[in-house]
Amino acid sequence: MLPGLASMASDPSSSTTLQELSAALHNCQRCKLAKLGRTQVVFGVGNPNAQIMFVGEGPGFYEDKQGEPFVGAAGKLLNELLQSAGLSRSQVYIANVIKCRPPNNRDPEPDEVDTCKPFLLQQIELIKPKVVCTLGRWATETLLGRKVGITKIRGHAVRTEKLTIFPLLHPAAALHQGSLMEPLREDFLKLKAFLDQADRPEPAPPVPSEPQRTQMDLFGS
Ligand code: SF4
Repeated sequence: MLPGLASMASDPSSSTTLQELSAALHNCQRCKLAKLGRTQVVFGVGNPNAQIMFVGEGPGFYEDKQGEPFVGAAGKLLNELLQSAGLSRSQVYIANVIKCRPPNNRDPEPDEVDTCKPFLLQQIELIKPKVVCTLGRWATETLLGRKVGITKIRGHAVRTEKLTIFPLLHPAAALHQGSLMEPLREDFLKLKAFLDQADRPEPAPPVPSEPQRTQMDLFGS
């Protein structure tokens, strides 16, 4: 590595591309999850220019092994759900609130979220998605910065100062609790409707009245 690049890679705040940010977090030791049995940092995957980004909670067993968010059964379900919303994985970007697997898939602890959240915000800033779909309560609360009832808020866009957030149930929750599967599928259909509506071309601006000069030109002036 060239002199200077090493220090750049170790300072995530100086990253101006996703690749640089990912490199800066490789082997990150900033919170205690680095020492609690993770295999690797799971940064995120997908289209760096995605208009739609999905944010989950944190890597699980398979994600930790493969280094990619949403693989295994929850990933397979997410792929199906994306399809139902007219999306494919190659069109979207997928990341998590925290980038290292908590031991035994426990919930992330507040200090871990506080330490890792700025990197998620940086990812969002670099990708500039039009919509951020939060998967589950954790991701939704982290990005909204307040407590929410996910079953109440899900399936409706929430606009904050900087982001449009579309909260959804977490696919893993639906795999765990079958009664959530139908609501989860409904959420993705609502997401499709929301995206279809957002894509509709804006009404054309009114045609300005003919400038005087053009009218005069008609008479050869
Ligand atoms: S969870 Fe985030 S802050 Fe903690 S070690 Fe992993 S990448 Fe670093």
